[in-house]
Amino acid sequence: MRIAILKRDRCQPRKCEYECIKYCPMVRTGAETIVIGDDSKPVISEELCEGCGICIKKCPFSAISIIGLPEELKGGETHRYGENGFVLYGLPIPKRGKVVGLLGENGTGKSTAVKILAGLVVPNLGAGTASWDDIIKRYAGSELQSYFAQLASGELKVSYKPQSVNAIPDHFKGEVHNLLASTDERGLVSELVDAFELNGAMDSDIRDLSGGELQRVAIVACMVRDADFYFLDEITPFLDIYQRVRVAKQIKEFLSDRAVVVVEHDLAILDMLADYVHIIYGKPAEYGVVTMPKSTNRGINEYLNGFLHAENVRIREKPIEFTAHPPRVSADKRVFIEYGSFEKRYDGFVLEAKAGDIEYGEVLGVVGRNAIGKSTFVKVLAGELEPTQGRVDLGITISYKPQYIEVKTEHKTVGELFQSLDISESDVIEVLRPLRITELGMKSLKDLSGGELQVVAVAACLCQEASLYILDEPSAHLDVEQKVRLIKTIRRYAERRGVSMLIVDHDIYMIDLLSDRLMVFGGEPGARGVVKGCFDMQTGMNFFLKELGVTFRRDDISLRPRINKIGSAKDREQKQEGRYYYT
Ligand code: ADP
Ligand code: ADP
Ligand code: MG
Repeated sequence: MRIAILKRDRCQPRKCEYECIKYCPMVRTGAETIVIGDDSKPVISEELCEGCGICIKKCPFSAISIIGLPEELKGGETHRYGENGFVLYGLPIPKRGKVVGLLGENGTGKSTAVKILAGLVVPNLGAGTASWDDIIKRYAGSELQSYFAQLASGELKVSYKPQSVNAIPDHFKGEVHNLLASTDERGLVSELVDAFELNGAMDSDIRDLSGGELQRVAIVACMVRDADFYFLDEITPFLDIYQRVRVAKQIKEFLSDRAVVVVEHDLAILDMLADYVHIIYGKPAEYGVVTMPKSTNRGINEYLNGFLHAENVRIREKPIEFTAHPPRVSADKRVFIEYGSFEKRYDGFVLEAKAGDIEYGEVLGVVGRNAIGKSTFVKVLAGELEPTQGRVDLGITISYKPQYIEVKTEHKTVGELFQSLDISESDVIEVLRPLRITELGMKSLKDLSGGELQVVAVAACLCQEASLYILDEPSAHLDVEQKVRLIKTIRRYAERRGVSMLIVDHDIYMIDLLSDRLMVFGGEPGARGVVKGCFDMQTGMNFFLKELGVTFRRDDISLRPRINKIGSAKDREQKQEGRYYYT
C-alpha cells in the first residue's frame, strides 16, 4: 500500500517547471499519474503511482513524499486533510474511570485525533466526506462504535482543553473568575483554584496572565465542566515541576470516575498520570498511526527503546538510555568562571544570588519553581540586566537564548537567518544537521510551530562563538524526539568544544540526561528567590525535590526516573531517609 503526500506549504508551482510531472515515467507513458489541480499544484494518483520516487528527487522544494505502508493499514484511514494530505490511522480509545495518554512526535496527528473524539472534527475516513452512519459502521465491533453513535446523536458531553492556551484571550474577554464561573458545572472552582494556587490571579484580566497561569486556568475550566469525556491536549507547557505534579494529581483525583484522554510530552508526568498509553508513530506532516493501548510503563519503555513490540515497528534507530551515574567525559573539574554575590530587586520581588562558579566544559542544570528568579539570574549573568547590588562582569563571551523568543522581522526564512549568522562547517555538522534545521530552511520564521521556533532559537544560540552558553527553558514546546536530539546535540557540543552550559529547564528527564551538576533555586515564588548554590546531581535534586515534597525512584529496567505516588510506601520510606532522588 502506498500513500502520496504533497506538502502544500513547500510546493511552489510558480517557481518550478512541474518537474514532478515532467519526469514521471508513468506520465510519459500517457497515464494521468500526476495532473495539475485547481490551485495549480500537482495532484498525485495513489492508484496509478508506481512508487519509483523520481518526483521526490526532482521536486526542487522537497514537497513530495511517497510512502510505502503495511497492507494492514489499507482502508484504515480515520481522517485525511484533503487529497495528498496528511493521513491519520486509528484513534485512541477513551475508557471510563481511566486516564488514557497519547504519546508521539509533533505533527503525527495527536491534536487531530483528540479533536475527532471531542466532536470538533468530523472524521472523513480518508475520503472527501463520510456520514455519521459510515463512521459508526466503520467502528462496528469496537468500543468506538457506541462512542460515535452517542457523539452523533448529541448524547455525549465532552470537555476539551486546546493545545495552544495563547489563543484563549482571543476568544474570551474578561476576568479569570468570570471565565471559571461560566464553566463551573460541578461547583469545583474554588477547590481547584486553591489546589492550583490561582487565588492571586482570579481578578486578573485573561489578557494579563502569564503562560503558566493561563495553562492552569484552562485546565481548571476544562475540569469543572460536568462531562463524561475530558480531552486535555498537553498540560505541562509553561508549568514548573511542582505545578506539573499538582495538575497531574488533581486530574487523577477529580476526574477519577470519568474518561480522560491526555496528550503529553513530559514523560515523567505522563508516567504518573496515565493508566494506559497509545503511541502514535509515523512521519510528521505525512501520516500517523495510533497503536492499540499499552500499559503506561510498557508503552513508555517501548517508546524509549524505539521499538513497538505488538506492532513490530521500529520508531527510532537507537534507544534513549538513562544511566544512574551520568559519565563525565570531560571530567575537568577546574573552575572556569567565578561570579560574586549580587541582588536584583523589582517592585515586590528580590533575587539573592550567593557567589558561585561554573566549571570548564560542564553542563549545569538550573532548577527551581516558576517566578523564583531563574530568568532574572541568567539575564544578569548574560549581561542583559544590571544587578541592583553587586557587580557581575565575567569578561567572557556569552551566547544566550531567552525563555521568550522574539521573532525579528529582518530575516524572513530560517535559511536567511542562519546565512546572516556566519556559520562554520562544524556548526552545520554539529548543530544544524542533528537538530534538523536544514529541513526547515525555506520556512518563514513566522510560520514555525512553537517547537520548531524553539529548536531554531537554540541552534542560533549555539552557532554563536562563545565560551558560555545559557539556554532558558529550551525544552518548552518540544516533543520527545526533539528533546532527545537536543540533549545529544548539547552534550556533544559541550564535550567537543570544551564550553560550559547553563540550562534552565522543568523537564526532569531532560535535566537528568543533560546535567553534570545542578544549580538550585529556593525561596517564595513571586516574592523572593535565592540561589542555593551548585551541587552534584544527587544533592541538588534532593535539595530541590524536598522543597516540592516529591520523590523519584529509578525504573529497574530502563533506569528512567519515575515519580513516586505521594504517600505511597516508597514515597514515605524515601522521605524518611532523605533520598528524594536516586542516582
Ligand atoms: P500533532 O498534534 O501530533 O502535532 P496535528 O494533529 O496538529 O499533529 O497535525 C497533524 C498534521 O496534520 C500536521 O502535519 C498538520 O500540518 C496537518 N493539519 C492539521 N490541521 C490541519 C488542517 N485543518 N488542514 C490541513 N492540515 C492540517
Ligand atoms: P523564573 O524565570 O524563575 O520563572 P523570573 O526571573 O522570570 O522567574 O521572575 C521572577 C519574579 O520577578 C517574578 O515574580 C516576575 O513577575 C518578576 N519580574 C520579572 N521581570 C520583571 C520586570 N522586568 N519587572 C518587574 N517584575 C519582574
Ligand atoms: Mg523563567
